[in-house]
Amino acid sequence: MKIDLTGKVVAVTGASRGIGAAIAEAFAGAGATVACLATTLENATRTRDKILESGGKAAAFAVNVADEASVVEAFKAVESELGAVAILVNNAGVTRDGLMMRMKEEDWDTVLGVNLKGSYLCTQAVMKGMMKARWGRVVNISSVVGLHGAAGQANYSASKAGLIGLTMSTAKELGSRGVTCNAVAPGFIETDMTSELGEDFRTYVEKTAPAGRLGTPGDISGVVLFLASEAASYVTGQCVTVDGGLFL
Ligand code: NAP
Repeated sequence: MKIDLTGKVVAVTGASRGIGAAIAEAFAGAGATVACLATTLENATRTRDKILESGGKAAAFAVNVADEASVVEAFKAVESELGAVAILVNNAGVTRDGLMMRMKEEDWDTVLGVNLKGSYLCTQAVMKGMMKARWGRVVNISSVVGLHGAAGQANYSASKAGLIGLTMSTAKELGSRGVTCNAVAPGFIETDMTSELGEDFRTYVEKTAPAGRLGTPGDISGVVLFLASEAASYVTGQCVTVDGGLFL
């Protein structure tokens, strides 16, 4: 099945590296025009340049997804430069791990602010245009940890579980306007975020997951692309786990 998104504007948050960069590149490969968003213009420009070099269409924007004014300003700039956003991928995310006993309020607020509030703010910024067009796709990047919890990640797992609730509510609010909203829950994927996992943990994943390895950003981008495609128009409010079978 060939996915053709020519003419669609896609906004990907956290597009500078890891999973977000792979998603941005996959959309560009499918013909979409990609708004690459990251915390600085310099970071977002890295992915934009890669896309332009391979013949795709993209532009770079800076945003702090946890800040309403920044989100409103960034999406105004996206719309005036590229046109209305048809597909939004809420991928920006951070961790501030630590056992709950010692977790600082600031670490709770930062993680919930970026991962959960950020996705709500970005969705709010694009939903009017999608409703007007009577077509739209929102894909939220959750985590297996949002489904199963993890010691040392109370803030992160709460944010990722919250994203699943946000996904189902968005699907219910926008479904009648031709807009779908789904979540993807990656397992352990090789990126900066997981670069500090110890060798023991890696070995555990390799031994336990039927796939026998950690995931790559490309393992996630293909699923996101499918959920954004016409082929997935009857899929909404779902959370698709992509973890090589680790949590079977
Ligand atoms: P990563 O390599 O650490 O990249 C994080 C991205 O988020 C960067 O592009 C970063 O931009 C951006 N970002 C951080 N704070 C932001 C803010 N306040 N405003 C806007 N952008 C911000 O992460 P990753 O591993 O690719 O993860 C991507 C998503 O997948 C996250 O939501 C993560 O929780 C989720 N996930 C990852 C895994 C995994 O194993 N890696 C598993 C499950 C779920 P800058 O480059 O400008 O800092």
